[in-house]
Amino acid sequence: MSAVEPSGSVGAVSRVLIVGGGVSGLALANGLTAAGVHVEVAERNPRTSGSAIGLWSFSIRALEQLGLKDELLASGAISEKLENFDARGNLTKVVDYAEIPIAPGQPGQVMISRPDLAAMLDRNARARGAHIKHHVTFETVRETQDGVEVTFTDGTSGKYDLLVGADGVFSTVRRDVLDIQQAPRRAANGTWQATVPNKDIAVKNPSLWSGEGFRSFQLYPSGRDRCAISLSDILLERPPYARGGKGAGMRIADTFRCARGQICPATRGNG
Ligand SMILES: Cc1cc2nc3c(=O)[nH]c(=O)nc-3n(C[C@H](O)[C@H](O)[C@H](O)COP(=O)(O)OP(=O)(O)OC[C@H]3O[C@@H](n4cnc5c(N)ncnc54)[C@H](O)[C@@H]3O)c2cc1C
Repeated sequence: MSAVEPSGSVGAVSRVLIVGGGVSGLALANGLTAAGVHVEVAERNPRTSGSAIGLWSFSIRALEQLGLKDELLASGAISEKLENFDARGNLTKVVDYAEIPIAPGQPGQVMISRPDLAAMLDRNARARGAHIKHHVTFETVRETQDGVEVTFTDGTSGKYDLLVGADGVFSTVRRDVLDIQQAPRRAANGTWQATVPNKDIAVKNPSLWSGEGFRSFQLYPSGRDRCAISLSDILLERPPYARGGKGAGMRIADTFRCARGQICPATRGNG
């Protein structure tokens, strides 16, 4: 189902440049191309790695409006609830997603791997006619009476009715084109994430263990055959479970035991 009717333009807009091919940029490219608008996307650093993203019901509804819900459900895993534990493993609260009335009629949450989501949005936008250039960004932007003239780092140039900055939290469109000099502040805490096999969907719903301060450990499905493990902390050094790096081959149980030991040292080794 698509809520977007092809017309070749949206108001006075028929040629759009989107800078940034992340979730927002590619979702917009899908919607505008479905409406018949000529769309070009310039993406500086396309996503080929990453762990999982949890899409809430309003995001699922948006993907349904773009005609992508079936594909989302084919590679994502539906979660029904979030179980919260304290650092000693006592269940403290269960959040039932069906009771969160954000977009009634949709699953509460779908967990999908970020590269799979990016590939799905990219594939469909291209199939609808979007021109997506990788490893390219804008060099200059000149505003004209009826739009913008843009030159790119690959030596090409173009004229557009509209330029959309979808280049994320460190947006250079915001900084260089709109002259808004407002950079985000870095927080002291961060997250280590790992992706491991999730045989027979052993991990179906997300779980969260909270320790002292900002320390927490999460285990959640990342699509149908993998799950993700994430440790949030005031990060001063690489936690032991992350030292093996990519492809370290830890089993879920080993990673779980090791990461959980980080949020509550007293439980280290006890599983
Ligand atoms: C640890 C973590 C966990 C999260 N978990 C969730 C979750 O479970 N559910 C959820 O809904 N949200 C989650 N979020 C938030 C979510 O990731 C962001 O809201 C989302 O990625 C924003 O999408 P975006 O397209 O605006 O920006 P981004 O995803 O940052 O994409 C911006 C794109 O622009 C590109 N770009 C940047 N500068 C330029 C340039 N000058 N030229 C060309 N391209 C450029 C980048 O390479 C990137 O591909 C999480 C965020 C973090 C940090």
